[in-house]
Amino acid sequence: MNINIDANSGFCFGVVYAIQMAEDELEENGQLYCLGDIVHNNMEVDRLKSKGLEIINHEQLKELKDAKVLIRAHGEPPSTYLIAAQNNIELIDASCPVVLKLQNRVRSGFDATEESGGQLVIFGKEGHAEVNGLVGQTGGKAIVVKTEADLDKIDFTKPIQLFSQTTKSTKGFMNLKKQIEDRIIAAGGDAKLSFEANDTLCRQVSNREPQLKVFAQNHDVIVFVSGQKSSNGRVLFETCKAENEKSYFISEPSELNPTWFENAQNIGICGATSTPMWLMESIQENIKNFENLIGSSK
Ligand code: SF4
Repeated sequence: MNINIDANSGFCFGVVYAIQMAEDELEENGQLYCLGDIVHNNMEVDRLKSKGLEIINHEQLKELKDAKVLIRAHGEPPSTYLIAAQNNIELIDASCPVVLKLQNRVRSGFDATEESGGQLVIFGKEGHAEVNGLVGQTGGKAIVVKTEADLDKIDFTKPIQLFSQTTKSTKGFMNLKKQIEDRIIAAGGDAKLSFEANDTLCRQVSNREPQLKVFAQNHDVIVFVSGQKSSNGRVLFETCKAENEKSYFISEPSELNPTWFENAQNIGICGATSTPMWLMESIQENIKNFENLIGSSK
């Protein structure tokens, strides 16, 4: 049995940077607060907790004073920076540069829509940390659209600027863009004049889609490793599943099922931008152990 780990899977540079900042601080001081899970991967969060990382939420931040708090790669709305200044909190800002650039674009896009009487629309998941950071740039006025049903929140007779959460799928973004164009035309408008679609998907995710397709096609069984809360994990798993029916989503080694590997010659392990390499390696070892068990029972 060949058990291969996809060389393109694992942490993106934004996550590498945030974890490195946390580890540097933990090494020096043995304790650090982090606002929200540092990555959407429980096993990696547990590893860092054992080194002294303490996860807090936004309510707890309001009560905290004179402390150091890490801002994770997803970024934060302006209100978080305000609370930190009021409470004498030192922020270790590990917001991903790609997200910071998107926040700036959303802020200036929002200013433009305010002038034109238009609307700023974000393709993303309401309540997702990155989306909260983006909505915060618009004083809470951005319209968040996740599915077609949410399109009813938009007035198609007014100008529209569309942005995307960085980790959504290219296909989903293109579909939404087309639906908005169709609705503008149906409302008697001209999409070329009143609609601007900004593709702000992160290439760390979208570039992985075509590579993963090939990886999924070239293996008999795919084990996709990701935290349940990872948005890009869901997107990339769907990419695998569309190419290979025998694709399985797991978050930790105990979820592996030996029956998946019966008669399989080539097994592929891959994951999200928040999946640590050590976890994929541990899963590889677990599958090798199944192979030994099967071999010894023959
Ligand atoms: S997926 Fe992209 S935007 Fe998100 S943290 Fe990674 S590099 Fe940054």
